[in-house]
Amino acid sequence: MEREREALVNSLVRRGYIVSANVEEAMRRVPREEFVLERLRRDAYVDTPLPIGVGQTISAPHMVAIMAEKLDLEPGHKVLEIGSGSGYHAAVVAEMVAPGGHVYTIERIEPLASFAEENLKRTGYKDSVTVIMGDGSKGLKEHAPFDRIFVACSAPDVPAPLTEQLADGGKMLVPVGGRMYQDLICVERRGSRYLKKSHGGCVFVPLIGEFGY
Ligand code: SAM
Repeated sequence: MEREREALVNSLVRRGYIVSANVEEAMRRVPREEFVLERLRRDAYVDTPLPIGVGQTISAPHMVAIMAEKLDLEPGHKVLEIGSGSGYHAAVVAEMVAPGGHVYTIERIEPLASFAEENLKRTGYKDSVTVIMGDGSKGLKEHAPFDRIFVACSAPDVPAPLTEQLADGGKMLVPVGGRMYQDLICVERRGSRYLKKSHGGCVFVPLIGEFGY
């Protein structure tokens, strides 16, 4: 499937979704076919979300690329992801924060937390990604503050605990809006100030939890 992966990444570069070398390298390295359901392997390099069971999806590669670009990830960063799903997005981010970085990813649906964990273990990301079962809308206080936080599901508003767990100088991406359509919001912390800006429209499954829907 390496040829298909190369073709997909080339197309993401051509279409302007990937502009940075570190995003390109990470997406060339992570085998998306290892994070999809067995019966959908042949579609792993179609630029679309795919079902992963329990009514959830692995995000489209162009959305993973957009979020990786906007997060300005660097080696050594400590990152929190809400919504592990298949574990694919966490693996891409783990590539970008290596060496020295770590990704904590929270999933509320047990079979998916196990799915993500197995996929990450099989593909060699066991030591750089920690999968945690729980309600990610509350964040992960015991490992805060985080240099980067990204939410891979949509919230009615920016969840307050996540803002509180952002390091000074840190950045967070969260899709905010209604259940059908959202704006990808970036929150940057500068001391006690939080600067918000929108990066345009997106569509994600809902964040279900205390600070979500
Ligand atoms: N990042 C994933 C990947 O690479 O496959 C795709 C994420 S999928 C679009 C959104 C995920 O968020 C689903 O697996 C869903 O169960 C999860 N989710 C929804 N609400 C959550 C919450 N409060 N805490 C943790 N995970 C949540």
